[in-house]
Amino acid sequence: MTMRPNSSPRPKPWILGIHAYKPGKSTASDGRALVKLSANENPLGTSPAALEALEQARGEAATYPDPGATALRGRIAALHGLDAKRIVCGTGSDELLNLAAQGFAGPGDEVLFSRHSFAVYDIAARRCGATPVEAADTEFAADVDALLGAVTDKTRVVFLANPNNPTGTWIPAEEVRRLHAGLRDDILLVIDEAYAEYLDPAEQRTGFDLAAAHENVLVTRTFSKIYGLAAERVGWATGAPGLIDVLNRIRGPFNVTVSGQAAALAALDDQGFVARSREHNATERSRLAEAISALGNHGLSAVPSEANFLLVEFKGDVTAEAALDALAEGGYAVRHLPEAGLRHALRITIGKSEDMDRVIATLRKLCGESA
Ligand SMILES: *Cc1c(COP(=O)(O)O)cnc(C)c1O
Repeated sequence: MTMRPNSSPRPKPWILGIHAYKPGKSTASDGRALVKLSANENPLGTSPAALEALEQARGEAATYPDPGATALRGRIAALHGLDAKRIVCGTGSDELLNLAAQGFAGPGDEVLFSRHSFAVYDIAARRCGATPVEAADTEFAADVDALLGAVTDKTRVVFLANPNNPTGTWIPAEEVRRLHAGLRDDILLVIDEAYAEYLDPAEQRTGFDLAAAHENVLVTRTFSKIYGLAAERVGWATGAPGLIDVLNRIRGPFNVTVSGQAAALAALDDQGFVARSREHNATERSRLAEAISALGNHGLSAVPSEANFLLVEFKGDVTAEAALDALAEGGYAVRHLPEAGLRHALRITIGKSEDMDRVIATLRKLCGESA
């Protein structure tokens, strides 16, 4: 008999290099429930029309969803002036980001992204055996020159989150176009626009225009953020037919649920909810930014944000850890990301007005200022 000392299944070595994604917390260390300002969810909840559609979809649990998400793609195309054939839906945009890496990169290839960008890119690269490569950022924003400088013969996919998570930074259209123009035609540029709807409407089409004009640009969007449907896991991507074809070959055949498709359809039709969410976010984000700026003498500062959260740096006596604890004590979960090289910062999702009041009061008190 042959000796088989290693008789258990052996994972691929690149899989063991993955640090599993850490979701935002919703409980304190003692188990108390906290208001979740740690996952960039919509504090206004979900459009009532989408909730109604979810309720109706409950009766359809025995049927498989439309595998092509035909109605949803049609409505997305109509809203954004896109071609439905150039759209694919996913189980959250997360699925599509992973498929983009898997479809175009593998062992021996490189997947490039900025330092301090979305944690999923590193996972997506490693999942398919490719090597993740981080380019330096500048003041927490993507640095086009650094990204272009990090391109090698092995680069196959470049991820750009715009606006970026966890920093909230955004690079303007001309910078995105300069990045694209500097990449070889055989490199796929994935522009992750999970927070695009928070931008000024005039700035929201940069990715779409590039994806419509070039064979190597994929833009991803999601229903998880401004549309308030994170629980339903619905995202989508647009790009050239050749790109969409690849994603369709490798996606789950029934990757968007019946309820997810129904809710997303209804949510698209309620653009009033989207507008109110954008407005609420802009108002409360500037109020939080001003409050942080007023604590500048205590070493606090906020990175300029175009998203639904603020990255707050703590460079004085008050540490990020102390603020994390004080906020948890006050009932709030925010995001500390030391593993992402952000030991001295907290990412705070913009919440309801009353929650922002209490977050600001907690930080002021911690700094020894009157609330
Ligand atoms: C939240 C987020 C997503 C969305 O993920 P879903 O899978 O669609 O929920 C994608 N990219 C970035 C940068 C995000 O922050």
